Amino acid sequence: MPEGWHARPEKGRCPTLAGMSAFTPSDEDFMRLALSQAHAAAADGEVPVGAVIVKDGRVIATGRNAPIEGHDPTAHAEIAALRAAAQALGNYRLEGCTLYVTLEPCAMCSGAMLHARLSRVVFGAPDPKTGAAGSVLNLFGHDQLNHQTVVQGGVLAAETAALLRGFFKERRVNLHPLRDDAVRTPDDRFTDLPGYPWQPNYLSDLPSLDGLRMHFLDEGPRHAPVTWLCLHGNPAWSYLYRKMIPAMLASGGRVVAPDLIGFGRSDKPKKDSAHSFGWHRQVLLEFIERLDLKNVVLVVQDWGGLLGLTLPMEAPQRYRALLVMNTTLATGETPLSPGFVAWRTMCAQNPEFDVARLFARGNPQMTPEECAAYNAPFPDRGHRAALRAFPALVPEHMDDDGAAISRSARSFWSTQWQGQSLMAIGQQDPVLGEPVMRALHASIRGCPEPMLLPQGGHFVQEHGELIAQAAVRRLTV
Ligand SMILES: [Zn+2]
Repeated sequence: MPEGWHARPEKGRCPTLAGMSAFTPSDEDFMRLALSQAHAAAADGEVPVGAVIVKDGRVIATGRNAPIEGHDPTAHAEIAALRAAAQALGNYRLEGCTLYVTLEPCAMCSGAMLHARLSRVVFGAPDPKTGAAGSVLNLFGHDQLNHQTVVQGGVLAAETAALLRGFFKERRVNLHPLRDDAVRTPDDRFTDLPGYPWQPNYLSDLPSLDGLRMHFLDEGPRHAPVTWLCLHGNPAWSYLYRKMIPAMLASGGRVVAPDLIGFGRSDKPKKDSAHSFGWHRQVLLEFIERLDLKNVVLVVQDWGGLLGLTLPMEAPQRYRALLVMNTTLATGETPLSPGFVAWRTMCAQNPEFDVARLFARGNPQMTPEECAAYNAPFPDRGHRAALRAFPALVPEHMDDDGAAISRSARSFWSTQWQGQSLMAIGQQDPVLGEPVMRALHASIRGCPEPMLLPQGGHFVQEHGELIAQAAVRRLTV
């Protein structure tokens, strides 16, 4: 056994349980010893999994995860403990022994346990990704393979799972260190949000990000025939697409939904002046190239469209269709709509406006918890620079940042766009409602008559199930 595996047979009584002879240690007592092995693994920078092997009420071996240190893909806690136990007993059969491990064993370790003919295997947290004791598969459940090993999960499951979660969270932070001039909304503000079960994904190494951490959802098969690229606006985040994503996934598609920098789970620059039209557009262009998105259905609303509608002309071959909702191209040629000007004034006068209330007002069908989820990214004013900056960034005059590129984009959509299109209009929107959308409609080549949602407001995605179903039918065949 290589040095550094930290698996050692215990001589005599396990010291940690010394003094317990008056009573029989329970599964939980032994799992706590496995947990201390897991903590030791974490301290070494390994994924925190620990194991102990018990015979006749005594710990005869311990093991902890150490594949990095040992340059050894097989150096799982259970393998280390099995080897140490066999050495201690002078027998490769471990009959009458119980193995305690903090995480559901993988296929390799489960196989080794069956070879060792353990009597029992007790594990803590289930492992939905690689667990071979019931989660992904169950090697212990095959009569042809197993005649002797009883398996039991869920002992100290909460504690063992918390250790793993904390470890991976810390590693995520270390992978994407926070820039001094930015803030990061704490993860716990995003736990258990209604209708938003998806795992976070991050990147921070796009040239334009310069280390800022950008969050995105990436669900469904990587090589799906269609990729839905869903772009939100101000003051929303990818949560806005939660009612549409299920239909997109059910059709076999991949869904990619980034949070713009300053929003959602993405990092938030402290200064309002960090935000500009051109910079956000550049981030999105690099993001699409990095993920190498193909067969894209571009899904846009609000700023998702102000920015997003300027993207396909840079790489038209990546896009197959457009789903456009309550947005516009701000070319600087015509005055901004009175509704938008009123919104911009409101934001300037009430920089601390309650985002949840904004959603609640236009969407009586939403629960208070759903509305509150829109406040999750913004615990205080220090996190709200984008909310303050964005309204004033909408190009108003011919030479404003973004106006010229928006004029080029309009020309692209009216003369060169080859893909299918679907427009959906929330008719209650006072800012970017039907009049604005009709004008945009005239600029999109081959766009059929819009789908109208009489109940839908500005955030029409809150009525998005029907829109997503229509888009699946009309844009992916
Ligand atoms: Zn394993």
